[in-house]
Amino acid sequence: MSSEKKAKIAVVGAGIAGSTIALYLAELGLDVTLFEQGKSLVSGPPICHLHAGGNLYREISDEACVTLLKESIDLLRFYPNSVDYRPTVVAVPLEDSGTPQELFSRLHRLRDEYQTLIEQDPKNRVLGESSDYFKLYDRTTLEALQKEPTPIKPQNLDEWMIPVSKNIDLQRVKFPLIIVQEYGLNIFRLASTVSLALQKRENCKVLLEHKVVNIQEESKKWRVESKNRLTTNSQEFDFVINSAGFRSGKLDDMLGYPRERFVEFKAAYVSKWEECDTVWPEVIFFGERGTPQGMAQFTPYPNGYFQLHGMTKDITLFEDGLVKSSKTSAQPQLKTKFIEKIDKAWNPTDIKSRSQLAIGHLAQYIPAFKSAKVVSKPLYGAQQIPGRDEDRRTADVSFEGERYARCEIVKASSVLTMADSITQQLISLGYIDKSLYGKREFKTLAEVDEESISSYAQSLCITRNYPVSLAKRNIV
Ligand SMILES: Cc1cc2nc3c(=O)[nH]c(=O)nc-3n(C[C@H](O)[C@H](O)[C@H](O)COP(=O)(O)OP(=O)(O)OC[C@H]3O[C@@H](n4cnc5c(N)ncnc54)[C@H](O)[C@@H]3O)c2cc1C
Repeated sequence: MSSEKKAKIAVVGAGIAGSTIALYLAELGLDVTLFEQGKSLVSGPPICHLHAGGNLYREISDEACVTLLKESIDLLRFYPNSVDYRPTVVAVPLEDSGTPQELFSRLHRLRDEYQTLIEQDPKNRVLGESSDYFKLYDRTTLEALQKEPTPIKPQNLDEWMIPVSKNIDLQRVKFPLIIVQEYGLNIFRLASTVSLALQKRENCKVLLEHKVVNIQEESKKWRVESKNRLTTNSQEFDFVINSAGFRSGKLDDMLGYPRERFVEFKAAYVSKWEECDTVWPEVIFFGERGTPQGMAQFTPYPNGYFQLHGMTKDITLFEDGLVKSSKTSAQPQLKTKFIEKIDKAWNPTDIKSRSQLAIGHLAQYIPAFKSAKVVSKPLYGAQQIPGRDEDRRTADVSFEGERYARCEIVKASSVLTMADSITQQLISLGYIDKSLYGKREFKTLAEVDEESISSYAQSLCITRNYPVSLAKRNIV
């Protein structure tokens, strides 16, 4: 097909993967239709952390951490308004079998890789100077920081450490503590940015509340059937992108494509700490996943709001929450109790008890946090992990034949690698010119202004029943 004849692309599912690829391909001039069964874009499982170095994951390889670093820098440059510019503190609790020292060689490698990326393109200097990528804090330095006034707007790593030094129980952790330039990624601001950008693109039709119920191949084209409340529609496309998140297997099953994947249901809890009047970095307390001492994650938002993860089966993880595809279906079957939580609601008793456990889990290390209150339903959902390794954290896209792509990201940061692979495939099919490969700067995204992003992000919090502070950034 010549590049003059516009290819018609169907994107099924508008999470971060589907919304980004729809915008990306529309910017390249293709004729895109984005189907989403929900009422708004990027409303799936939560995203709060930009994994710029994968330092939350001791179990993955150094290579995977380097990939996360590169992809995160790419994403930060693409969606700068969705990033919360605050570092992350990594602490190893006394009872944990690991040590901070085990992390040093990886941190040095990541710092060197970051410096190389800056040398390749100075615009990659988005995590500060490479020499400040991480810093170590021994007990004496932390005790000295306790005497400093807490800054309203921290200007350097030492200032970010002040609230940590004053509030965490230094008897409970091994030294040194590590601070690293892994920032936050705000799902409400990202949903807002990509929605506003897509509204500006006439060549991308966004069909909300349209569930794709069938896809069939018909003489080198795809027939996609979708349903909304009133009608059933059927349209023909040249290329289909399956970005249905944890439901991707359902589309594979429609077409008879086998695929191995896991699906995992998880939740993070939303709390308010009234007494907190300061800006925090994110803080991670390591622990073995799935045990009562599983990793605790303390993610700050403005005005004393904190998102909490506890990698135990009573908090973020769930008994039977991880399921696998089978020989007969590419769709892992989550139990009804999880599907009901996703499609309907949580029961209030569960919200209260799990959120209280999350507060208690963090209060082991930050004692004053025990006064925090539960303020809303959790942020939750199911995520897919392609392949056979349930610990996999970097994945992008796989193809079935020439004209069917599956977006299989595990972390948000992989979406641009995914976009590059799909672009490459569309180039080989002759749908777009090869000069467009790897493009990153797009006019439409640059035209979306901060005020509109902020205002729509806050309205999304209201419609989704979360506090509006979750759409705000700590440091503006
Ligand atoms: C508790 C938790 C915390 C997490 N924290 C982070 C984090 O800090 N950082 C990070 O990078 N990642 C995080 N993740 C992972 C991240 O949320 C997911 O990897 C990411 O959201 C996947 O995006 P996606 O676009 O592939 O899928 P989704 O966001 O699930 O989007 C898929 C979309 O497809 C739609 N859809 C499905 N089937 C159909 C159909 N038939 N027709 C039409 N529409 C359909 C769905 O409604 C949905 O909107 C977390 C996940 C969980 C569960």
